[in-house]
Amino acid sequence: MRVLIVGAGIAGPTLAFWLRRFGHEPTLIEKAPQLRAGGYLVDFWGSGFEVAERMGIVPQLFDRGYLVREVREVSEHGRRVAHFDPRRVIGNAEGRYVSIVRSDLASAIYESMESVETIFGETVTALGDDGERVHVEFASGAARDFDLVVGADGLHSEVRRLAFGPEAAFERYLGITVAVFDVAGYRPREELVAVSNTRVGMQMLRLSLRDDTTMFVFTFRHDGAVPSDDVPAQQELLRRRLHGLGGEIPAILERMPEARTFYLDRASQIRMPSWSRGRVGLVGDAAACPSLLAGQGSALAMVESYILAAGLGRSDDHRAAFAAYERQLGPLVEAKQDAAIGLGAAFAPRNRLQLILRNTVMGLMSLRPVANLVMGRSLRDPITLPPAPIG
Ligand SMILES: Cc1cc2nc3c(=O)[nH]c(=O)nc-3n(C[C@H](O)[C@H](O)[C@H](O)COP(=O)(O)OP(=O)(O)OC[C@H]3O[C@@H](n4cnc5c(N)ncnc54)[C@H](O)[C@@H]3O)c2cc1C
Repeated sequence: MRVLIVGAGIAGPTLAFWLRRFGHEPTLIEKAPQLRAGGYLVDFWGSGFEVAERMGIVPQLFDRGYLVREVREVSEHGRRVAHFDPRRVIGNAEGRYVSIVRSDLASAIYESMESVETIFGETVTALGDDGERVHVEFASGAARDFDLVVGADGLHSEVRRLAFGPEAAFERYLGITVAVFDVAGYRPREELVAVSNTRVGMQMLRLSLRDDTTMFVFTFRHDGAVPSDDVPAQQELLRRRLHGLGGEIPAILERMPEARTFYLDRASQIRMPSWSRGRVGLVGDAAACPSLLAGQGSALAMVESYILAAGLGRSDDHRAAFAAYERQLGPLVEAKQDAAIGLGAAFAPRNRLQLILRNTVMGLMSLRPVANLVMGRSLRDPITLPPAPIG
């Protein structure tokens, strides 16, 4: 089948890789002129790790990724108030865990694809599904027919908007906004330590990456609008939100204009009654974004793509494949989404009591039973991946 995949993030190239392996003809388009660089550090584990193993990219993930040795909570004045060694928790995953910058994960997946037609700087403007094929019109003015179209174009999916309706019908905003940026040469710097300073309503996370780069992640409670595609306005929002806070924050904000990449968006979930309509389907965040609070969006995006490709590979019957994909993954994704909602207090506690509780639990994470209780379940996904094609 000729399958148009829209979006070259995590889900899109994974789907293209596996569709090719299962004998289909994928075309991948991406609206950015090249693969997006930078971005946040994602923790990568679970069934997604198993998909990566089957793709043979795990060595690249460890080469490009990080094994953080300490997660440290500090007070406003930099004093350590709680900490744990995530490798003890990771022990639960038997070494099948790595933290990696999102764009490094995306490029490792992208580089593993073979013979996939890929077009950058392109997007879809209209989809016409006549039951036999989908007639696609592109922003460049071109038009082509495909047997299937799959939207892998993230939280703010255009394919979802065209085929299913406005985002507002499916978005569940969790009341938390996230900003991520990286600068060179920031001090202080601690290798392989994730330093966080959490206060009522917000958290600052600082991570030292290779090449003297430091990444900052701010998560904060926010009820108003979030400017999209306007970095100066987004930086102004962050500045306003953090105004008056002390400690390291003024020094970080001073460096913000030098940011090499800057990201700010709502932490939202996408919840849809169905991930397909006719010959158009969705994968990854486009279908079922669990939000950054879940810490598993990338891994889930890979699992979803693998299972959809395996379903199509076996039957060539898109109706059966879409139905099986939803049946197998719907309950798992929903459980991860439900669990993520409760994690908001860990990123941006609503009040002092939540803050104290959060830091107490964090201090106890070194104890294996506590780690098992807090993290254990999320390190093991209750699904079995279907077999990969031979050869
Ligand atoms: C701050 C933060 C921290 C996170 N931490 C983690 C974590 O620890 N662990 C984890 O597993 N996940 C994490 N995630 C989530 C994870 O990044 C996403 O779930 C994952 O990237 C989803 O992959 P995707 O391919 O569906 O979408 P994306 O990675 O968003 O890729 C979508 C692609 O589609 C392209 N695109 C968009 N619109 C169009 C269009 N109209 N036409 C063509 N192309 C288009 C985009 O340019 C992009 O390349 C985090 C997310 C955030 C924001």
